[in-house]
Amino acid sequence: MAVRCDADPGVGADGWNVVGRMNSGLLYVDKRGTVTVFNELAAQLLDIEAPLGKAVPLGDVLPADRQEHQLLSGLLASGRELKNHVLTWTRGDRIRHVLADSFNKFDPLGVYAGFYMMMKDLGDLRTLEQHVQRTEKMATLAKIAAGLAHELRNPLTTVKGFLQVMEQKFSAAGQAGDLQNTRIMLKEIGQVEALIDELLLLSQAHQVQPRPCSLQAVLEALEPELSAQAEAAGIQVRRRVEVLPPFLADPVLLTQAIRHLAENAIEAMEPGGVLTIAARRSGDWLEIDVSDTGPGIPYYLMDRIFDVFFTTKDRGTGLGLAICQRIALDHGGEIRVSSKGFGTTFRFLMPFRSLPGPSDCPHGPPVLL
Ligand code: ADP
Ligand code: MG
Repeated sequence: MAVRCDADPGVGADGWNVVGRMNSGLLYVDKRGTVTVFNELAAQLLDIEAPLGKAVPLGDVLPADRQEHQLLSGLLASGRELKNHVLTWTRGDRIRHVLADSFNKFDPLGVYAGFYMMMKDLGDLRTLEQHVQRTEKMATLAKIAAGLAHELRNPLTTVKGFLQVMEQKFSAAGQAGDLQNTRIMLKEIGQVEALIDELLLLSQAHQVQPRPCSLQAVLEALEPELSAQAEAAGIQVRRRVEVLPPFLADPVLLTQAIRHLAENAIEAMEPGGVLTIAARRSGDWLEIDVSDTGPGIPYYLMDRIFDVFFTTKDRGTGLGLAICQRIALDHGGEIRVSSKGFGTTFRFLMPFRSLPGPSDCPHGPPVLL
């Protein structure tokens, strides 16, 4: 932790602390080897305690055996400058990637006086890069999904039509064996249709149609389906849902998201497990927690569970969480997951958008689901 100093050189004449607020670490090392750390971020990136804006001997803040000390004194000795240089520092079991730039300072006579160094935590850039990669992947997938869904739907509709005619014929003729086989085929087609619908959900980004919606109504509509699934799997369902005023969201998509999370929770548990659905308003956010008492998610899979087509189940599609994440993002929210070895909680977060007052509502009073 850095220690504040009264004469903070990063504070401009207007009192605006530019250096303190910038999202890069800044420090200066003079030719005598005294270091001036200008902002908290520089102290954090170097993992040191230093008075901000005050010149102190380098060895006092950074022990000589630290890689960072060697780097700074090496720059001083060589007069070399760093340009977009990626540094990797290890401290115990922690690894830090830092993007560093340094530039030398000369006095009015042109004599070398020291150097400034700016540092940027690459941890943040990596997160950004992962986000961009995921978004690009989603966009490509959305195109493939839309094309595939279209190509599959037409022949499927034809086959389904013929099968329905056959079903009627076999039923009228009392051909029980053929009738049963036809119904099995129709059921399989139903599953492919459900998969196509899910693919389409992924491809139709930003198709959110916000309407006044009531969380209680959404959960009540899901109740019969979830209870049946839970009962069949020997799972107990608990609810801890705050009574909330109506808000703006796409009720169809919200239902889909909760259904997917609850299905995953049920599928993760052995008989005797407990599924808990809890919801509350926290400030400007709506939080919906879907928790299970299953085995949890191993940490090495955490990064992958939201990937499209990632599944650990024999009959899984790997689409559920990708769809939930898309729905949350399209509502301006996100999904958080916590899993600590025993049990998992998925939190669906979205901004709580209250309805406009009755006088602002152009279509009369809100229609609840
Ligand atoms: P699917 O359910 O078809 O496998 P999802 O996208 O819904 O696809 O989930 C991806 C993977 O995430 C699952 O296969 C499972 O490994 C993991 N997962 C999701 N929810 C849970 C949970 N509640 N407990 C443990 N693992 C889970
Ligand atoms: Mg699933």
